[in-house]
Amino acid sequence: MKEMTGFICDESYFWHQTGNGALNLSSGGWIQADTHAENPETKRRVKNLLEASKYMDELHQISPRSASRTEISMNHETHYIDKIKELSDAGGGDAGVHAIVGPDSFEIALKSTGGTLTAVEAVMEEKVQNAYALVRPPGHHAEPEEGMGFCLFNNVAIAAKYARQKYGLKRIAILDWDVHHGNGTETAFENDNDVLFISVHQENIFPKNRGDITFTGKGDGEGYNVNVELPAGTGDEGYLHAFEELIEPIIGQFAPELIFISAGQDASRFDPIGRMLVTSNGYFEMSQRIKKLAEKHCEGRLIACHEGGYSTAYVPFCTLRIIEAMRGKNSQVNDPFKLGFHEGPIYPHQREAVKRAVDIQRSYWEL
Ligand SMILES: [Zn+2]
Repeated sequence: MKEMTGFICDESYFWHQTGNGALNLSSGGWIQADTHAENPETKRRVKNLLEASKYMDELHQISPRSASRTEISMNHETHYIDKIKELSDAGGGDAGVHAIVGPDSFEIALKSTGGTLTAVEAVMEEKVQNAYALVRPPGHHAEPEEGMGFCLFNNVAIAAKYARQKYGLKRIAILDWDVHHGNGTETAFENDNDVLFISVHQENIFPKNRGDITFTGKGDGEGYNVNVELPAGTGDEGYLHAFEELIEPIIGQFAPELIFISAGQDASRFDPIGRMLVTSNGYFEMSQRIKKLAEKHCEGRLIACHEGGYSTAYVPFCTLRIIEAMRGKNSQVNDPFKLGFHEGPIYPHQREAVKRAVDIQRSYWEL
């Protein structure tokens, strides 16, 4: 089993309701009812493609357990956990900034975080080599006392804290490639030198005033926080350039015992709320590089947790390619959008953006 890739999902994840808003807002006023950007289909179609293609047969499916309140409280204040429960019991509301709670969202969010904990247990106890957790609601924007950007509990932050506590890990790396900055995860570990946090994101997108390359951590955590801001329009080549210039060398020098990917596929070229041009091949290549680092440093221990990604059409193909790279075996599915790799050049301003991040991180790493 150890060579297997685990796949964690639960039907309840698709029952978390975000209402009939448009893009990131609820309907009402001048906003006609529509389909909210963070809707079940953005994730359900990933599972559907795995099943339709029979690639699911290549994966070791694991049912998620629910996280306990105590586990959630490793990263969130009690009053905030209570607030989610109250809103959920009352039928819904907003737990912060665009953090929609629907009926039973509290219990679903416990199972979403629990999915990432299940992934930690499966990988650490060598039931599988690596695991993809198709969880919902997502987590990386969630702050200790505030929900944000469709996120309620910070799944990856809680999973990393759990891994550190339960398995005594001394070095955990988290790479967040969601198109938005992973502010909640950054906050969770900004003072820590045993968790390396790297966020590669579109500059000036969301949330405001977070994700600046100059923020490198605080106190003991100084030098263990890496922000890479890329300009709108960056595609596979620009992302891979950032991987080569600083993401891969920094993870290599840190030599983690476990790697997490906050896998938001909203840097894809068809995303309605991101402005990047990453293709399914780009996601494949990025995943393969991280897998190689995991094999070199931590016996292949790698966990990818689903975050954003709002193109219902394209997210499934990007996510399938990530899972193929993790599993080490291709599916029969070709990207029907027929996007060639190495299509786009790296423009000078994209190179410059990577260089700016490298120059800052040179204070801490050999680059
Ligand atoms: Zn996102």
